[in-house]
Amino acid sequence: MNLTTELRLSDISPAVIQSEIRAMSVECDRVGGINLAQGICDTELPEVVADGAMDAIRAGFNTYTRLDGIALLRHAIAAKLESYNGLTADPETQILVTNGATGALYASLLALLNPGDEVLLFEPFYGYHVSTLLSLRMRPSIVPLAAPSWELDLKAVRNAITSRTRAILINTPANPSGKVFSLSELQGLAEIATEHNLFVLTDEIYEYFLYDGARHISFATLPGMAERTITISGLSKTFSITGWRIGYLAAAPQWISAIGYFHDLTYVCAPAPLQHGAAAGLLQLRDSSFYRELSTAYQAKRDQLCDALNSAGLTPHTPAGAYYVLADASAVEGKTSREKARSLLQRTGIAAVAGSAFFRPGGGDDLLRFCFGKMPHDLDRACAQLQNAL
Ligand code: PMP
Repeated sequence: MNLTTELRLSDISPAVIQSEIRAMSVECDRVGGINLAQGICDTELPEVVADGAMDAIRAGFNTYTRLDGIALLRHAIAAKLESYNGLTADPETQILVTNGATGALYASLLALLNPGDEVLLFEPFYGYHVSTLLSLRMRPSIVPLAAPSWELDLKAVRNAITSRTRAILINTPANPSGKVFSLSELQGLAEIATEHNLFVLTDEIYEYFLYDGARHISFATLPGMAERTITISGLSKTFSITGWRIGYLAAAPQWISAIGYFHDLTYVCAPAPLQHGAAAGLLQLRDSSFYRELSTAYQAKRDQLCDALNSAGLTPHTPAGAYYVLADASAVEGKTSREKARSLLQRTGIAAVAGSAFFRPGGGDDLLRFCFGKMPHDLDRACAQLQNAL
C-alpha cells in the first residue's frame, strides 16, 4: 500500500513501544516454549469466583453498571480494605471499580495531573508505569533502589524533586524486584509527600503475595496520608483472573468523582458479570484460609524457581513479595539482556524478560526476570529445562 508521507504517528508514539514482555510472549509462542516472561498467572481461579460470574451472566447482569461499579462489589471491597489493609473507605463515595489496576492508574493520572508534571517512581520499575506516564505526556522521574536488597535512599528521593514534581508512585510488593516497602521507608516517603505537597499513587496488586513473614502496609494508613493517597489494587493476581480486567481504587471523595469520570470516558465500566464474580470471591473467601494458602503456595514456587536458577548458574535476587525473580544472567550468551533472553529461549525453551525492560537505558543488562505464577507442571518442566541455560 502506498502511504502518503503527510501522515505520521503522534510525537509520543515512538517512546511508547510494544512492551518487551509482550514481545517475549510472542517469541515464546512461536517456538512453543514455556512462558515465564509475562505475569499471566495461569493458575486456577477459585470456583466461587467462576460460578459467581457465570451465574451473573445467566441471571442477566450483562449491561453497563454504575460508573463506579456494582454496590455488591464496592461494599465487598470496602470490607476487605477495612479488615486486610486497615483502611476505612465509604463504598458509596470512596471506591471506584476499574478495568484492572491498569485502568485505575490511567484514569487517576488523567484526573489528577497535567502534561509536563513529574512523577517519582523507583527503579527497577514496572514498564507500564513509565509508559503510562509517557503516554499522558507526564515525566517519570526515576529513583534507583540499591541492589541486591533494593533499599530506598530517601536522600536520592529528595534530590529528584523539582518544582514540577506532583506525585510519587509506589508499587509494593514490587514488580519486578519483589521489594516490600518497610514501614520506615513509607514513613520517610510520607514526610517528603507532606513537605512537597505530593499525591501518592500506590499499586498494591501483589498485596497478598508475601514471603518469609513480610507484611504489606498500605500507604494510606500512615498518619495524615489518607487524603493525598490513591490506593490502587485489583483481583487479577489474587484470583488468577488477569483477563477479566477487574481492579479498583480507594481515595477521598473529592478525587473519586473526577477519576470516575475519566474512567467512564475510556472504559464506561468494568465488565458487569465479572464484577459479580469478583464480589462472590471477596465475600465467600473472606474468612477462609484462601489468602494464607496463596502466599504459602507461592512461597514454595518461589523457592523451587530460585533453587533451579541457583543450580543453573543464574543467581537469583530472592524476592520478599510478588511473583517474579530477577536473576543474574551475566554468564548467559549475549551482549545485552535482550540478546540473553533470546539465547536462553533458544537453549532451554524458557522465556524470560530482559532486565533492561525495568531500567533506564544502559541498566539491567545482566538481569533476566522470571515469573513463577505458573501451574505446577509448567514450573516443574521449566525448572528442569533451565539446567541447560549455560
Ligand atoms: N501493576 C503491576 C505492578 C503489575 O505487575 C501488573 C501486571 N503485570 C499490573 C499492575 C496489572 O494489573 P491489572 O491486571 O489489574 O491491570
